Amino acid sequence: AAAAVGSSVIPIVNKLQDIFSQLGSSSTIDLPQVAVVGSQSSGKSSVLEALVGRDFLPRGSDICTRRPLVLQLVHQPQRPAGVDADEWGEFLHHPGRRYYDFREIRREIQAETDREAGGNKGVSDRQIRLKIHSPNVLNITLVDLPGITKVPVGDQPTDIEARIRTMILSYIKHKTCIILAVSPANADLANSDALQMARQADPDGSRTIGVITKLDIMDRGTDARNFLLGNVIPLRLGYVGVVNRCQQDINADLSIKDALSREEKFFRSQPAYNGLAQYCGIPQLAKKLNQILVQHIKTILPGLKSRISSQLTAVAKEHAFYGDPVESKAGQGAKLLNILAKYCDAFSSMVEGKNEDISTI
Ligand code: GDP
Ligand code: MG
Repeated sequence: AAAAVGSSVIPIVNKLQDIFSQLGSSSTIDLPQVAVVGSQSSGKSSVLEALVGRDFLPRGSDICTRRPLVLQLVHQPQRPAGVDADEWGEFLHHPGRRYYDFREIRREIQAETDREAGGNKGVSDRQIRLKIHSPNVLNITLVDLPGITKVPVGDQPTDIEARIRTMILSYIKHKTCIILAVSPANADLANSDALQMARQADPDGSRTIGVITKLDIMDRGTDARNFLLGNVIPLRLGYVGVVNRCQQDINADLSIKDALSREEKFFRSQPAYNGLAQYCGIPQLAKKLNQILVQHIKTILPGLKSRISSQLTAVAKEHAFYGDPVESKAGQGAKLLNILAKYCDAFSSMVEGKNEDISTI
């Protein structure tokens, strides 16, 4: 399954990042982090997995995510020599060891969680850091976080709720963090922990996307239509409703691909969601995320341009000092500036909706 994150922005952002790395320029395009917040078992890990398009996160009805997992997606344009898979994971705590089997990645996350937080539901704020190399991703960091729980169980301390809230806030308070506020549709949405915490960190809602999970198991006769439309709790960037795999699907090893087509069928067959296509489904969530990333790139491009310009001037001066031909580096730099200018315009018109198809540039 191809990664859903950034499917349309991937080529352009990767091209820019490749140009920068070739030039050895210190300018890089830093994409914002994306973190999930919500109560335990609301479906946070399921949403992240569906966005990445691979099965590798521990999920379940119990507390599964017990340490922050910092997931760095690394765009790997070409398969390195001697490697026969083009997607693999690598943990910071096992440098150099490549995991090609994503089930093994999940087992290692579980084992490493136990090593630090014990085997009895303990929670720790020490990160697990995992890099996923793939040709289908863009360089972005996703953070899976433990969910908010109220009643201590197992080895959890009595102040577990406060501790988890502090841990979550330490990630989502950063102005560059995009918050996916995940609320299950089968609980009272107006009391959502996710929306409450997101509002605390991002009061004007400029970087919060509401995600409503479990639309398939709502009380019969109810639906989330009004919520998705923002009629209950308005959110500037809006909501997306999704249907992830249920526990039975997980036990039966239902693939992400099959889950996505079933999700699509679900929305098509429910009259309540008629006409709400843009608010429904994992692909829509990926699209929304893309639009935010594009907007972000659009705001940082002018700064990048001027940084490169001044680097160029400095290089040209140095070359002149040594009497070198200025041609090569400066020539490359000028080319880069040209490309950037083109991308800037293309991004602008895309963001303004004039040009939907960015791949035609
Ligand atoms: P987290 O604790 O927030 O990370 O939640 P998980 O992703 O681990 O999911 C918790 C449980 O809810 C798992 O058993 C999932 O199978 C189930 N689940 C998650 N999303 C959905 C959904 O959209 N529909 C249904 N039926 N079950 C879901
Ligand atoms: Mg989880």
